[in-house]
Amino acid sequence: MTALHQGRALEANGQRWKASLPGMSGFETRAIHVGQTPDKETGAVIPPLVLSTTFAQPEVGELPAGYDYGRAGTPTRTQLEQVIASLEGAKYGYAFASGQAAEDAVLRLLDPDAHILIPHDAYGGTFRLVDKIHAPHGLRYTPVELSDIEAVDGVWRDDTKLVWVETPTNPTLSIVDIAALAELAHQRGALLVVDNTFASPYLQRPMEFGADIVVHSLTKYMGGHSDTTGGFVALNDDALAQRTYFQQMAVGAILSPFDCYLVQRGIKTLAVRMERHCDNAEAIVELLSTHPAVGTVLYPGLESHPNHDVATKQMARYGGMVSFMLKAGEPAALNVVRNTKVFTLAESLGAVESLIEHPNRMTHASSAASPLEVSPALVRLSVGIESIGDLLADISQALDTAS
Ligand code: PLP
Repeated sequence: MTALHQGRALEANGQRWKASLPGMSGFETRAIHVGQTPDKETGAVIPPLVLSTTFAQPEVGELPAGYDYGRAGTPTRTQLEQVIASLEGAKYGYAFASGQAAEDAVLRLLDPDAHILIPHDAYGGTFRLVDKIHAPHGLRYTPVELSDIEAVDGVWRDDTKLVWVETPTNPTLSIVDIAALAELAHQRGALLVVDNTFASPYLQRPMEFGADIVVHSLTKYMGGHSDTTGGFVALNDDALAQRTYFQQMAVGAILSPFDCYLVQRGIKTLAVRMERHCDNAEAIVELLSTHPAVGTVLYPGLESHPNHDVATKQMARYGGMVSFMLKAGEPAALNVVRNTKVFTLAESLGAVESLIEHPNRMTHASSAASPLEVSPALVRLSVGIESIGDLLADISQALDTAS
């Protein structure tokens, strides 16, 4: 692809993000309609899924719709990029093959020997990417409790260029004050990145609080049905957007048209799904909070949560993820995860079906023997949208096996 093409594609994308949609200011309306205008030729209400990897040029270098080759861009990917950028309140957005590919693209925006801060309880895959892929090439990192601004100040270095935030975090559901950290990072010339996977833009829009870049695993709430893997980078800065687009095109960790279609389909019901995830999670939290086998319940909606006030400030509701500690430790935690019937024992989260897992041995096994190691007494729930009576009965009977 020539520099001219890159420039054109970016310019075309930029114009698309800015396209105004009269009468479509509401979140739910945009989730359904942005990028989904009926097909001009056939009237199809759902735009056709374009699988083509190449696009006819009426004249050499002439690209009527701005597309030349599938890796560089496709109509179906543009549609998805438009809607997610719109929902996050961002100017630009880029869809990647997975959340990890999106994270990798963001880390590659830095000089290879930059220093970054990561959450002391970061998602295991994020830690592995930083520690095993980027650190051997020079990246330096410090894990720190990002909800403690003094601790952040204490580990800040002259070469700290980026703060990587997850809020709520996976799996301990700690909450970080996005606005406070954005202010600190900006005063010191660093970027603030927020992994918004756990909240989704329906519950939290980090850019409204000063974040520079938002990343997502689309595999979770955005797709919402455990049938597609994807990632996303949303941002506003023109130069960083150009470099992100260049990487997407040059490295090629792109989201396939069919996966784009699936995620776009999922996003149309994001708002109603998130409301139901939150309703069900709140009911489960109530049950866990009074159960004798359960120690601490980790949920930002609890007034006892150390950063409940911050969560209330920056989130619309508190989400569908719930973690809890078993008083009897790892054996009890393993019994619980083995004995649910409606909750499926599986990794991942954010889909319509309820999932249960043991982070220490499953999703966060890559953090073993590191400062990020997760307690073996911890169980994580991704509360789905099934009938709440069935979910409560299931957790209740599984907890009976804990003691
Ligand atoms: N960020 C968070 C918070 C996650 O939980 C995950 C996956 O579980 C990822 C990023 C990585 O996403 P993916 O599995 O789509 O690569």
